Formats: sequence, structure tokens, C-alpha cells
Amino acid sequence: ASIGVSIISNPKMEASSFIKEADIAMYEAKVQGRNGIIFFNDELAKRVEWKLEIERLLHFSLEDNEITLNYQPQYNSENEIIGCEVLTRWDNEKLGDVSPTEFIPISEKTGFIIELGYHILEESFQMLNHWEEKGIYLDQMAINISMRQLFHHTFLYDVKELCDKYLTKEQRSKIVFEITETSVAEDVKQLIINMRILQDYGIRFSMDDFGTGYSSLSYLRQLPINEIKIDKSFVSELNNTQGQEERSFIEAIFAIAKNLRLNIVAEGIENEEQQKFVVGQKCDILQGHYFSQPLKDYEFEKLFLDAKQVEHKAL
Ligand code: C2E
Ligand code: MG
Ligand code: MG
Repeated sequence: ASIGVSIISNPKMEASSFIKEADIAMYEAKVQGRNGIIFFNDELAKRVEWKLEIERLLHFSLEDNEITLNYQPQYNSENEIIGCEVLTRWDNEKLGDVSPTEFIPISEKTGFIIELGYHILEESFQMLNHWEEKGIYLDQMAINISMRQLFHHTFLYDVKELCDKYLTKEQRSKIVFEITETSVAEDVKQLIINMRILQDYGIRFSMDDFGTGYSSLSYLRQLPINEIKIDKSFVSELNNTQGQEERSFIEAIFAIAKNLRLNIVAEGIENEEQQKFVVGQKCDILQGHYFSQPLKDYEFEKLFLDAKQVEHKAL
């Protein structure tokens, strides 16, 4: 059971407000994993208000050009940039920078993710094409996709339309859709059908935050996945002295991925020790602050082209 409690401190409090507060507290108890008791308080009230404000302002974010895309470089084991992950940013006049960990779940809840997701896809596809015109050739561009988006009745059509408009066949094979196992929907059958249709367009799939859900292995067996991304929480434990368990865990994930012939990405690499460890495991792709933060498009271009020049000189 999830229980929300509101204390009547003001005897003139309306019954409806009292019930509403208890309801908000109960909802919070559910969000925190159920089976708990939460008391309504000012902090909770502020958080609810903040979320409502995000919900309201998010609605104007696209027309006000407040949404931008960042690109975090992905490297191979030889320290060459081979791809990027698209990460969305929202800078609002009133709220400032809002993290995607806040606005993405809200836009999923309200359905705004459909409009937002379309915009992200369109801009990413255009960027991939634009970069090739500038001599920036990547092996892959990873885009995060919400389940709600993947299941929306226009999604397959939208992706096809955008592919036809902006990408050649070869470019389409560079697109990777990242899905998270925590959000893999109830309807796994339909999910597989949709994934297969998208794979027919050339698009590949990556299982993001691998290892954090409840059914990683079962999904890995069922879904037509091409790549897995080990969650950064495992990587961050690597240089902990008690990290032996994490090391064994990561080694096991690498063994599974190798056997299933899946590409493997380690995200959240923050230091040399972590980098060395995953390279030792024959990790295909590395990503994290140790290499680079997520960058603005022109910063990414500069980083890529500068690195290419150094390579040329070395030759
Ligand atoms: P994610 O897809 O797992 O993305 C990786 C997150 O780790 C990003 O956070 C990235 O900035 C951060 N990161 C990268 N390197 C490091 C590192 O070395 N150390 C640490 N501690 N963190 C690192 P960000 O950009 O805040 O995004 C958070 C989450 O929001 C993403 O997690 C993804 O689930 C979601 N998200 C972001 N952009 C989009 C989007 O366009 N669409 C959808 N559906 N979700 C998105
Ligand atoms: Mg991701
Ligand atoms: Mg991740």
C-alpha cells in the first residue's frame, strides 16, 4: 500500500485542499517505489509546482527555439571519434537549464514527447547529412527514443518520411535508436514488429542503461538488439576498492555481448583507469567525460576536424 498523509494545521483548511494534499503525498509514495508513507510538506508542494511549471512552459519550448541538441563524441579503442550520442537540452527563460532527466519523463507523461521527438529526429538527421557535406563522417549517430514515441501510431511513418527526406541509404545505416530496458513496454510483440520495420530501413538499436532494469537478459534474448550500452553506474564503481563485484559483472556483460555478437558501448567513462579496464575487455565504443562532455554542434565539428588534422600530420 502507498499512503499519503496530510496534517490539518489550519482549522480553516478546506476539506478539498486537505484531500488534495494527501493525494499528492500518496502519489509521491507511489513514485518512490510504493509500499511507503509520505507526509505532505512544503518541499513536496514546491516540487509539484515546479513539475507543473515545467509541464506548462515545455509546451512553448519548441516554438520559442529553446530546445537545442548536444552531441557527445563516442570513441573507439584507438581514441578516434567514430560517432556521437544526441542529447537534448532545454534552456528556458524563466526556469534556466532544465535537465532532460526532468523534462523527458514529463513530456512522456503529457504526450509532448511525440512533437519533441519528431523535432529531435529531424534535426539529428539534418545534422548527420550536413556533417558529411563538411567531411565529417561518423560510423554512427545514436538518438534516444522513448517507448511512448516508438509506440505512437505515426512513428514508423514519421521516421520513414524523415529518412527519405534527409538521408541516403548509407546514412540511414548509421542511425542507432537507443531504448531503455526500464521502459520496454508491456507489448513486447508489437515492439519487436516495430523494431524490425525500422531495421528494414537500416536503423540499428541499442539497449541503453543496460543492467539497471529487472529483465535485461530476457529482453536481450527477445529483442532484435544490435548494441548494448553498459550503464554508467557500473563503470563509476570500477575504481572503487570494493569494485571487484562490478568488474566481474562488467566482464560477464562483455562475455554475453561477445557471444551474441552485439556491439558494446561503455558510457560514463570518467578516468583513465575506467578507460583501460573497458578497453582491456575489448569494448568497441567508449563515451564519457574523460573524452568529452556533450558538445554544441560547432564544438563537435571543431573537435572532429582538429583530430583529423592531427592524424593527417602524423601520417
Ligand atoms: P542517457 O541516454 O543514458 O545519456 C547519458 C547521460 O550521461 C547524459 O545525461 C550525459 O550527459 C551523461 N554523461 C555523459 N558522460 C558522462 C560521464 O562521464 N559521467 C557522468 N556522470 N555522466 C555522463 P543527460 O544529457 O543529462 O541525459 C540524461 C538522460 O535523459 C539520458 O540518459 C536519456 O535517457 C534522456 N535523454 C536525453 N536526451 C534525450 C532525447 O533526446 N530523447 C529522449 N527520449 N531522452 C533523452
Ligand atoms: Mg542514451
Ligand atoms: Mg545511458
